[in-house]
Amino acid sequence: MMTTPAGNPTGPEPIEMVEPIIELQGIRAAYGSIEVLHGVDLSVRPGEVYALLGPNGAGKTTTLKVLSALMPPTAGKVIIAGRDVTGSRAEDLARAGLAMIPEGTGIFPNLTVRENLRMATFTGKKLSELEEAAYGRFKRLGERRGQVAGTMSGGEQQMLAMARGLATDPAVLILDELSMGLAPLIVEELYGVVAAIAQGGVSIIVVEQFARTVLGVSDRAAIMVHGKIRAVGEPAAIEAELSSAYLGGQ
Ligand code: ATP
Repeated sequence: MMTTPAGNPTGPEPIEMVEPIIELQGIRAAYGSIEVLHGVDLSVRPGEVYALLGPNGAGKTTTLKVLSALMPPTAGKVIIAGRDVTGSRAEDLARAGLAMIPEGTGIFPNLTVRENLRMATFTGKKLSELEEAAYGRFKRLGERRGQVAGTMSGGEQQMLAMARGLATDPAVLILDELSMGLAPLIVEELYGVVAAIAQGGVSIIVVEQFARTVLGVSDRAAIMVHGKIRAVGEPAAIEAELSSAYLGGQ
């Protein structure tokens, strides 16, 4: 299990003293002979919500794939909780506390909500525990426990995906395009839950294309353009830079 530094009773530690929970150093990655990540450096502190924003095709999803070992980098290092895990298997990272919720959720659409949660009992948790946690966090899932997941709304499916991802009690939660195709109110609700999960000490990295909503719950944000991180900073500063990034300014 990954650990986060113990709280400091005299106040927060200076930022540079805190060991990042996730670090990417000089990551390059390619599909065949086409390189799409050209040296990505990124670091997420324990308990932080880090938003990775950027236009379509910038390389955000590829960055998450490299981070969760679903794709090998051609250069660079992936460091988690101070350990160089470059080249590890995705299952090992999952066991070490990394949970990724892919774009398009990754739930079983033909199974009911409860059956989807039952599939997560491989984690060693009882179904009753998983249901209690899931329905506590997402009341709507409790109301729909017998419903076939594929027939629920997009927002409800996303809630189920998050509930399943949290079944392993991850130290790091990776969310890809949480807001994809969802109404603004639902997105806000989901981000409310993201904020609550972060309050519980989980470090969260979230990729979004457009949603400015994510900035409201982020501690830091970065803009990725053409396979590189172009800016990192406080959400307000990043928000001010977003327009030029999307309009293709350099
Ligand atoms: P989106 O918001 O569209 O998912 P993104 O920022 O997540 O964008 P990526 O999906 O990481 O971007 O894609 C980065 C680049 O890699 C794009 O040019 C894309 O066309 C290309 N790409 C992504 N997946 C593949 C693949 N499986 N095979 C070949 N090229 C790919």
